[in-house]
Amino acid sequence: MLSFSRLHARKTVGLLKRFKSTLVIAEHNNEKLTPVTLNTITAATKLGGEVSCLVLGSQCAKVAEEVSKVKGISKVLLADSEAFKGFLPETVTPFLLATQKQLNFTHIVASASAVGKNVMPRLAAKLDVSPISDIIGVQDDSTFVRTIYAGNAIQTLKSDEPVKVITVRGTAFEPAEVGGSAPTENAPGEAANSDLSSFVGQELSKSDRPELASAKAVVAGGRGLKSGENFKLLYDLADKLDAAVGASRAAVDAGFVPNDMQVGQTGKIVAPELYIAVGISGAIQHLAGMKDSKVIVAINKDPEAPIFQVADYGLVDDLFKAVPSMTELVGKK
Ligand SMILES: Cc1cc2nc3c(=O)[nH]c(=O)nc-3n(C[C@H](O)[C@H](O)[C@H](O)COP(=O)(O)OP(=O)(O)OC[C@H]3O[C@@H](n4cnc5c(N)ncnc54)[C@H](O)[C@@H]3O)c2cc1C
Repeated sequence: MLSFSRLHARKTVGLLKRFKSTLVIAEHNNEKLTPVTLNTITAATKLGGEVSCLVLGSQCAKVAEEVSKVKGISKVLLADSEAFKGFLPETVTPFLLATQKQLNFTHIVASASAVGKNVMPRLAAKLDVSPISDIIGVQDDSTFVRTIYAGNAIQTLKSDEPVKVITVRGTAFEPAEVGGSAPTENAPGEAANSDLSSFVGQELSKSDRPELASAKAVVAGGRGLKSGENFKLLYDLADKLDAAVGASRAAVDAGFVPNDMQVGQTGKIVAPELYIAVGISGAIQHLAGMKDSKVIVAINKDPEAPIFQVADYGLVDDLFKAVPSMTELVGKK
């Protein structure tokens, strides 16, 4: 028979195990929340338990205010310091560890973007747990769905790690709605510069076009465009459609466009309402980044190009003829 105190201890452990709490790491530019954070919050709310959101940056109080209005957030933790300039993993991770030590979250979640991919593996290693990357579904608080083999198979995995460090594929979850009013408090932990790395500066490309990962329409070009200058054909069409412009890896590797435009397994994952693939053959690594788009249009002069197997509408034609006529037609009322 169990003594009263042992029984009590067991019950307490059981209760503590059942108590779930999730920390979402917000992604932002110190001024505005990056839209993918809203999708990440939706994934976090599916885990059950309270969801707190950490806004870590420098002069980022405006972002904390924005997050506090998102439905599903119980608390906003603010960590505002010059040390967090550039969101360097070497600076951010010790802070996250200190926060985790105090608040004992059962799940720590970020989006599977360049920022999340930079910080979360380091955090998982420091916590000595396996990270759970790029999930597309939550079955319960320890069972997750993700794609493997460049999107050719779907894996359901169960994790028994004490803290689950997760990155979320934003396109697989709806964005959380606005309509909450969570309190904001300072996150526990000391911000300190790291002697491993320091932030020197950044040059950001400025564009009036929508952001590739969250755009409703994307026009993407491949090696078939033949040069960077010819991408102007796509920019003209994109401007008419209010679309972002993406590219295949071959177009990036050839130096036509910068690598932040790459769509695919090793680029960005997109799922817009409309994806127009121009002069792209449709290699599996490219499809892994865009095949969840709602409507896919392919323009290619080769009728055998694999892109036509996933396309809803296909046009077998020379892109240098087809794209300008399309742009002209879109412009006509
Ligand atoms: C580990 C790994 C990761 C990878 N990650 C990615 C990734 O993230 N994203 C990605 O895109 N690729 C990725 N790749 C590369 C991928 O395998 C392909 O090489 C690449 O997608 C091909 O790009 P493309 O379709 O532009 O070029 P190509 O395969 O050369 O196709 C060009 C197409 O343009 C068409 N074309 C040419 N001229 C015209 C014209 N005048 N009019 C109309 N059509 C024309 C051709 O018929 C052809 O179908 C990866 C590969 C590996 C091994």
